[in-house]
Order: sequence, then structure tokens, then C-alpha cells
Amino acid sequence: MRAPTFDQLRRGSGHIHIHGHRGARGIMPENTMEGFRFTLDIGIRIIELDVLLTSDGTPVLTHNPHLMPYSTRTEDGAWLAGEGPLVLETPFADLSRFDVGGLRPGSDYGARYPDQAFMHGLKIPPFDALCALINEAGNEDVWLNIEIKSDPRFPQKTPPVPLFVERVLQVIFDHGLDNRIILQSFDWRILHECARQAADIPRSYLTYLPKPDAPMAVNIHEGSPWMDGISLAAHGNSLPALIAADGGRVWSPYFQDLNATDLSAAQENDLVVNVWTVNETADIDHMIDLGVDGIITDYPGRAQRRLLERGLTWQLTETG
Ligand code: MG
Repeated sequence: MRAPTFDQLRRGSGHIHIHGHRGARGIMPENTMEGFRFTLDIGIRIIELDVLLTSDGTPVLTHNPHLMPYSTRTEDGAWLAGEGPLVLETPFADLSRFDVGGLRPGSDYGARYPDQAFMHGLKIPPFDALCALINEAGNEDVWLNIEIKSDPRFPQKTPPVPLFVERVLQVIFDHGLDNRIILQSFDWRILHECARQAADIPRSYLTYLPKPDAPMAVNIHEGSPWMDGISLAAHGNSLPALIAADGGRVWSPYFQDLNATDLSAAQENDLVVNVWTVNETADIDHMIDLGVDGIITDYPGRAQRRLLERGLTWQLTETG
């Protein structure tokens, strides 16, 4: 097994990377060890995950600041009645009592993932457990694309940025995984802190452009608190130019925000481009045609099959 290098994250002749989003959300409960093992078992070599901190400072893998009512049950099997406890205010031991093994029948979120397995007794994992898995024999070629979840509009819901980054990095360094990591965030305060604390770990700039009826927070606009004082206009309105000038090595745009011009600019700036979250076959095809380096998807099996149909693979070869 050759040593991991950043250039392995680039598209090669004949291969494009597949990142399993929250493991394989379309098929398995998200951000769970069972989902991550499944993703590795089917041969995916890059896992995307979300990290938050508990009240006692443990990095845990879950997506929202509050436990999600549509995917969380109590020990008794009862669904959370409303918005769940804030992860930041909950000790790890208490968090471990919740079951995140399935989606609530009748919920909108459940309807979005009709093929996701329904399981019992799945726990919110500590980040440490995933790092231990990645260090097991046979997983030496696996990378983690770690999203540090932070929202500058609600700073009281996530930890102080320096402490948050320090705790996540500590786990990474404890496991000696710093050469197989991408650190990503929509909140560029986090990325700037990562640059201060671990300059050599590649940083991925998540971007979501303004659009009518945007279903989630737009982070790219002039004066955006997500951009930590950086002006797009000052970089010729080019996100790739901005990211490269800011020291980023990876750009991770919403897939419908990406066009050929920006992709060329990213390549000229030597950036790796990983698009999210690409689930439909036609969209996977479009991203292959555009020439991205990595496809982040809830359906890694579907992406595998599509790459094979196109004469491509997701696996690195010794020459690829
Ligand atoms: Mg994520």
C-alpha cells in the first residue's frame, strides 16, 4: 500500500472518487458506525461525516446541533416529541442512550429516503470510534472528509471555534490520521482556525449560492457571516480564485451551482473539486461529464454502478 498523498484525491484517467455521504444515507442510517462499515464493505474509500461536540467536549458524529426528531428515539423506543436536546448541552453518556437507527414513519425526512434500512439500538458514535475503524487492517487507503458543523448565525449552539477545532484535531492526531483527512465546513471561521492549528491538513470550502426558495442556508454572498470577512468581489467573483488565495486546496460546491467555467478555474488553481450531494443518475452523469474529482452521494452503490457503465472506476490503481 502506497502512502496517502493529497494528489490521490484528484480525478485520474479512468477514475473518479465517490464519497459516501454521512456513510450511505440512502441505504443505511446516517452517521452511524453500521452505516460507515457498510460503506467501507462495498468498497468506498472516502467517507463523508459530520462532527459536533458534546457538553463534556467529546467529538460525536451527528448532523444537527439539536438531535433530530425524525431520526431519534429514546431508550423506550419513543420518538422525540419535538426538537431534541442540544448536543452541546448534553454529556456523551446521555447522548449514548438515544437510538438513531431509523427514520420516523410519516415524516418528510423519512419520505426522502424510502430505501434506508430501519434498525434498532444504533448509537451516535464518538468520532474516536470511526478513526479506530479507519485504522483497522484493510482500511489503510481510506480517507475521511470531515465536516465540522458550525453556524455563525447561532454561535451559542456550537462550541467556541478554537476549542471545537482543537478537540476534533486531537482525535485525528491521536490516531495518526492527519495524512488521510479533509477538513470541510460551510463556516469559514472553522477553516481559518484549522489553518492556524493544523496548516498542513487540506481544507475544503463548502459553498451554496443564493437561489430562490433555497431550502438551506446560503453561505456565499457579500458580507456573509459564513465567509469570515472574505469578499467574493475582491477575487473577481470567482470562488475558485478566492479559495486558492485563501489557502484552500479543495472546493466543495452544491452540484447544481457548478459550471464548466468555474471548474476550469478550479483546475487552473490546482483545486480538487468535490460536489454534493449527487443522488440521481442523470446528475451523476452530468458531474462525470463536467470533470469533477469527487462525487459526494447518499447512494454510493448507484454511483459505483454508473461509473462502471461509463467504463470508469472509483478505486485508485497503483498508476491511476
Ligand atoms: Mg456533511
